[in-house]
Amino acid sequence: MKTSTPVRFLGIGALAMALLTQPAMAKTKRAPRAAPGWSLVIHGGAGTMSRDKMTPEREAEYRAALAAALEAGSKVLREGGSSLDAVTAAVRVMEDDPHFNAGRGAVFTWEGRNELDAAIMDGRTRAAGSVAGVTHTKNPVLLARAVMERSAHVMLAGAGAEEFGRQQGIEQVDPAWFATPERQRQLEELKANQKLSWFDVDRKFGTVGAVARDKAGHLAAATSTGGITGKRWGRIGDAPVIGAGTYADDRACAVSATGAGEYFIRAGVAHEICARLRFRGESGQAAADKVIAEVGKLGGDGGVIVLTPRGEGVFSFNTSGMYRARANSRGVSEVAIFKDDAAKRK
Ligand code: ASP
Repeated sequence: MKTSTPVRFLGIGALAMALLTQPAMAKTKRAPRAAPGWSLVIHGGAGTMSRDKMTPEREAEYRAALAAALEAGSKVLREGGSSLDAVTAAVRVMEDDPHFNAGRGAVFTWEGRNELDAAIMDGRTRAAGSVAGVTHTKNPVLLARAVMERSAHVMLAGAGAEEFGRQQGIEQVDPAWFATPERQRQLEELKANQKLSWFDVDRKFGTVGAVARDKAGHLAAATSTGGITGKRWGRIGDAPVIGAGTYADDRACAVSATGAGEYFIRAGVAHEICARLRFRGESGQAAADKVIAEVGKLGGDGGVIVLTPRGEGVFSFNTSGMYRARANSRGVSEVAIFKDDAAKRK
């Protein structure tokens, strides 16, 4: 834009004034820098959710479950803890809560087992850890974190991952711990009606994830899931695939995804969103919306949560709902479920 002469003139005048008044200004104390804030966004899965199919009691249960996980992560951040500890705490609460398809309450495989996937990533160092197909680890997010911090590897699968977990003292449980009657029913429904696709049985996917920015400005992301009902042949989704379902980079953003994992892997969703922020300077919302639109074009459903280094926490999904919540040091604390749900303040 061209600067017109009067404006430029005014600019020079202002500069002269500033120089003239400098000694006086030097005496005035500088306002202290605003303390860097923290920010947290979580999800409990995206899918087909309609108000008429959800009873008020059920809705209240989900809202309370999300609020509990949000508070677990917020507490860590409020007290000056790291974004890594915050995402671990939030995801752990949802893994223990049977409402979600992660840890306890995970969906069943075709053979009637619960096989769990999880990942975590540190945006400060881009260190990452993930596990796939574990069947005895109470909190897969803790095992993923141990892989990141205590092994030379990024991704471990199956029996080997669990052997590593046992060696590291990560809590193991009887597989019955993960099983719930509702998830069993969903498997039976799928088997009884072969016309249903994997994604139709429970269109509320239920995977969980968290992204956080701590007071020091570092980002982290974590995701945990049981995958999809009726999965077979050692199927692994996007959640434990670094760059697909989970990614964090202090230079760009932190992302956790949920939805039809095959499409999220093919679109490289989490890394692609970060790349758009880093190289194209897009906002978190614009980048997330574009990549979710790409997933939709491929035929996939789902959503993401994204947090930028400036603490912009966003949701983007192409389903009718996503269990989601966010909080930050400026006093925001919101929980939402349906697409048209103006996030309700707690
Ligand atoms: N993304 C997960 C998977 O494909 C499923 C989900 O988000 O619910 O394994």
